[in-house]
Amino acid sequence: MRDGQPGRVTKVVIVGGGTAGWMTAAALSRLVPSGVSVTLVESEKIGTVGVGEATIPSLLDFNRMLGIDEDAFVRATGATFKLGIEFRDWTRPGDSYLHPFGTHGRDVDGVSFHQLWLRQAALGNPDPGPIGDYCLSAVAARRGRFTRPSANPQSVLSSLFYAFHFDAALYARFLRDLSERSGVVRIEGRVVAVDQDAETGFIEAVRLEDDRRVDGELFVDCSGFRSLLLGEALDVPFTSWKHWLPCDRAWAVQSAREGILTPYTRATADTAGWRWRIPLQHRVGNGYVYSSAHIDDDDARQALLAGLEGQALGEPRQLHFEAGRRDRLWDRNCVAIGLSGGFLEPLESTSIHLIQSGIARLMSLFPDLGFSLTEIDEYNRVMLREYDQVRDFIILHYHANKRSGSQFWDQCRTMSIPASLSAKLALWLGKARVFREQGELFTPDGWIAVLLGQGVRPTSIDPLAATLPPGESARFMAHVRDMIDKTATAMPTHEAFIAEHCAS
Ligand code: FAD
Repeated sequence: MRDGQPGRVTKVVIVGGGTAGWMTAAALSRLVPSGVSVTLVESEKIGTVGVGEATIPSLLDFNRMLGIDEDAFVRATGATFKLGIEFRDWTRPGDSYLHPFGTHGRDVDGVSFHQLWLRQAALGNPDPGPIGDYCLSAVAARRGRFTRPSANPQSVLSSLFYAFHFDAALYARFLRDLSERSGVVRIEGRVVAVDQDAETGFIEAVRLEDDRRVDGELFVDCSGFRSLLLGEALDVPFTSWKHWLPCDRAWAVQSAREGILTPYTRATADTAGWRWRIPLQHRVGNGYVYSSAHIDDDDARQALLAGLEGQALGEPRQLHFEAGRRDRLWDRNCVAIGLSGGFLEPLESTSIHLIQSGIARLMSLFPDLGFSLTEIDEYNRVMLREYDQVRDFIILHYHANKRSGSQFWDQCRTMSIPASLSAKLALWLGKARVFREQGELFTPDGWIAVLLGQGVRPTSIDPLAATLPPGESARFMAHVRDMIDKTATAMPTHEAFIAEHCAS
């Protein structure tokens, strides 16, 4: 302590070199010039979870913060562009809808566009068509088209939002190169013990198999599901959400590319869970997330293989997990980022975002050696709230199914849901109102896409929407639809865009 002030943190140790570890290392490498050493310990023998290839638009902010050239990143990771997620068979077998990134139409005199759409759908003549027709990302996705958005707010192209599908191993490699160039030190080795202060429990060092000791002041646990520091050493409890999200296993396999390069992820509902399809430039990532209480492992494996479009590249790999999170994500001098802190199935591709969110909040509350409890509590408050909000959105997809006759889907439809989700649903079912809570990741447009996509219709609409002259609203809607249609038609195909700018 100097002048009554706690000293600076100058030694950060990250345990784990998966996506979470290397994203954290790349972000913290910015502290190296100011005298903070950043060391990452990972074990190649243990390896990484090896999945996690679909993202959401917030990743663009992370890459920008690191000064990453987007074309170089797309090339290096075999990435493709993602305009949203197609949900197949979630409402009933045969149905399909898109949760696109971006907005539907635009508000009129303070009335949300979806309210106009609902009124027109009720009036009919002209039939407004699906709400997705009023979202550029949705229309472009369905047509297999992509270009970068315009910075001009007057242009329809400014309403396009996108993210990426990438190869997780190549992304970790890309970030490792960037981190090491910026002064992060990597240590290869297996952590076998954690040294803690006998009185406070603060972590002092991690010990490796070959007796090396890596000491630090701030520890970031990126050790994956095992949660070596936060869970095992500090014994922070895990709250399970299995009663709401019963899927606890997945089979994952890569397959050869077939057909056109779709600019969206696909999530297809199946007997006891759902299958993902993530198109990359050089292959396709596939998986079946399922509830082991409702389907045998072998049957799930067969269902995954039977649903592949191209030839399997190797044998499927099985993964085990449980939905939930630790009760604190920062405890004493340890912050858990990634799977060590919690897990939510990848239905809305949110895990990498939660990693990024944890990193951003750690940077904004970067501690000194006093480790202020007030700041640690603030970190936990905002991060736990974010996990809970994402959880509710994922539960909505399951709960709002109409796939009657299957034990798994019946259970999801009839289960009791969190009070926070019930409150959101009540607002929607009343007058189609959706509000974005403080710090909430998903926008009202995202909720609207899923609610309408799964046929959850409100009983009424915003009374202000009824004050707008119907003829005028119908003309306005037709104009919006037409502009979006023309803009999407003028865009290059996804494949052509990649070939021109960033083929790997
Ligand atoms: P890991 O990748 O498991 O890395 C853990 C690291 O810790 C490894 O380097 C390991 O070697 C190291 N380690 C562990 N123990 C020790 C030890 N004793 N000593 C030294 N090192 C050790 N997220 C998305 O955003 N989009 C998706 O599409 C998506 N799909 C997913 C599908 C499935 C089936 C699953 C399970 C997850 C998915 N995720 C997805 C989540 C995503 O994979 C993870 O959030 C992401 O990969 C980060 O993982 P991690 O770095 O926390 O853990």
